[in-house]
Amino acid sequence: MAVLKVVNYGEPVLRKEAEKVTKVSSKIQKLVADMFDTMYAYDGCGLAAPQVGELKRIFVLDCGTDENPLPQMVFINPVIIKKDGAIISREGCLSFPGVYTDVKRYQSVTVRYMDLKGKTQTMTVQEGTLLCRAIQHEMDHLNGVLFVDHVIDRFSTDQQLAEHKLPPIEPDKILTEPDLDEALAGVAL
Ligand code: ZN
Repeated sequence: MAVLKVVNYGEPVLRKEAEKVTKVSSKIQKLVADMFDTMYAYDGCGLAAPQVGELKRIFVLDCGTDENPLPQMVFINPVIIKKDGAIISREGCLSFPGVYTDVKRYQSVTVRYMDLKGKTQTMTVQEGTLLCRAIQHEMDHLNGVLFVDHVIDRFSTDQQLAEHKLPPIEPDKILTEPDLDEALAGVAL
């Protein structure tokens, strides 16, 4: 087991699409163990393989808190098969040290994935919990999408990025999210 280097925003690998895992080999199991070591060493609650330079469709999560402990979770070849509602989520990312900003996310998602034993699992998470938001954040990493692509306040986020010596938001990467905008407008005051 080992702590791997987490790549920062600006590294091209974070913009690439990760490849499907065809077999949960001992090499993949070792990568997953190293990803957990790395995530804990960096004090994060989620980490996707591209963040350690591995273009594989894998992410790990530990979204437990003292009040609500959750097991370690491994998602291999995940697919979001259902999504509903919208929320504003304040997020950070281990590849953006020190940067936190509000982004748009679905309020509930159903994800289908393979576990570390190679078994297909389906999980539904609701109410915009940390787990629900983390699944969407990490899922994005596998498609070269980053949380700042969902940004709400581009100006203040760019200021934070500059303060932390990270590149600015890439305007052509900002997502148009009409379904989320519509859902958010529905709950606005
Ligand atoms: Zn991230």
